[in-house]
Amino acid sequence: MITTPTRQDFDHYMAPNYAPQQVIPVRGEGSRLWDQQGREFIDFAGGIAVNSLGHCHPVLVNAIKEQSEKLWHLSNVFTNEPALKLAEALVKRTFADKVYLCSSGGEANEAALKLARRYAVDHFGEQKDKIISFTQSFHGRTFFTVSVGGQPKYSQGFGPVPGGILHATFNDLESVRQLVGDDTCAIMVEPMQGEGGIVPATQEFLQGLRDLCDENDALLIFDEVQTGVGRSGELYAYKNFGITPDILTSAKSLGGGFPVGAMLTTEAIAKSLAIGTHGSTYGGNALASAVALAAVEFIDTPEVLDGVKKRHELFREHLQAINHKYGVFKEIRGMGMLMGAEMSPEYEGRAKDILPLAIEEGVMALIAGPNVLRMAPSLVIPEADIKEGMARLERAIERLVAQG
Ligand SMILES: *Cc1c(COP(=O)(O)O)cnc(C)c1O
Repeated sequence: MITTPTRQDFDHYMAPNYAPQQVIPVRGEGSRLWDQQGREFIDFAGGIAVNSLGHCHPVLVNAIKEQSEKLWHLSNVFTNEPALKLAEALVKRTFADKVYLCSSGGEANEAALKLARRYAVDHFGEQKDKIISFTQSFHGRTFFTVSVGGQPKYSQGFGPVPGGILHATFNDLESVRQLVGDDTCAIMVEPMQGEGGIVPATQEFLQGLRDLCDENDALLIFDEVQTGVGRSGELYAYKNFGITPDILTSAKSLGGGFPVGAMLTTEAIAKSLAIGTHGSTYGGNALASAVALAAVEFIDTPEVLDGVKKRHELFREHLQAINHKYGVFKEIRGMGMLMGAEMSPEYEGRAKDILPLAIEEGVMALIAGPNVLRMAPSLVIPEADIKEGMARLERAIERLVAQG
């Protein structure tokens, strides 16, 4: 057995579908991480919008400790208390009447899409099968969700793709009008595109989608895998817009680092997910549900949600101050603790060059495409960590500028 694994071991043993950074973090606390050599980092990456309460938050640690000594897993032949409590917590806090639990965002979206298709078959017939989504969107890596996603490079090269999927342009209602009709089964959209570059939908766009769905008996699906569970400053981003979907998917922040996903919908639509139509071995796993319940209850409070909005302003101020000095950004945008800084024309495509420099300076960040620096920190990141992390990020950007 390897005693101290190295980055070379990744290349040796792991399937080559990722290219991780060189450092290997071994410990985390709040918004700080430490690597094998004891070097400390401030975490603005947040496990790609997953670590909603940072690393090893006591509330989540306690939830997992307590549940791990009681019951981990039963399968769906039995139900369990944490899953039922989590479902109740989600129903009470949202538009939804019914919850389907699973283990990831892709699985939640797969369930949403299959449900939309089944609902159309049940109520309107097989011909109503068109799913409209958007270029640059991201919905997961299962073959159905990756095909609905709007980045063809991820779905090509795997043989015939699932049919009945159309792509319109995000924030362009006219492009949707050209595709929508009687045969539209559902429209799937992220209220703010995450992987596509941190692009918030406009109010008029989402309202227009809601209206088009209503006019065409189609279901509106909000993929809130990245925007959900406090990330936007509300429990779910749809609340910011006041526009209610028919189906909503959640994962990432929901488990705060433990794999869990959920699909939320109304009673009438959920009926189409009758016994035996769909399932997942780990869906509603007791351990996962206990952690997610603790996360939702902790996050859905005025203190935490107001804190997210306050921290958003702090991040913005710091990024603007950096930009004032170095002029590297064209636009700073986002909601809550999900922010993007698009590079200025002079630094086109250079966002990815910031990441290794930032790591050298002791701060971890993300990109969303080659041209957007993305940050998805803990919803409760301390102000001191924001300040110190930004000082480190500024040094990384200073070096990028010096490189020319
Ligand atoms: C990350 C993400 C997914 C996929 O979630 P997985 O847990 O990786 O399957 C789907 N939709 C959006 C918007 C995402 O950000």
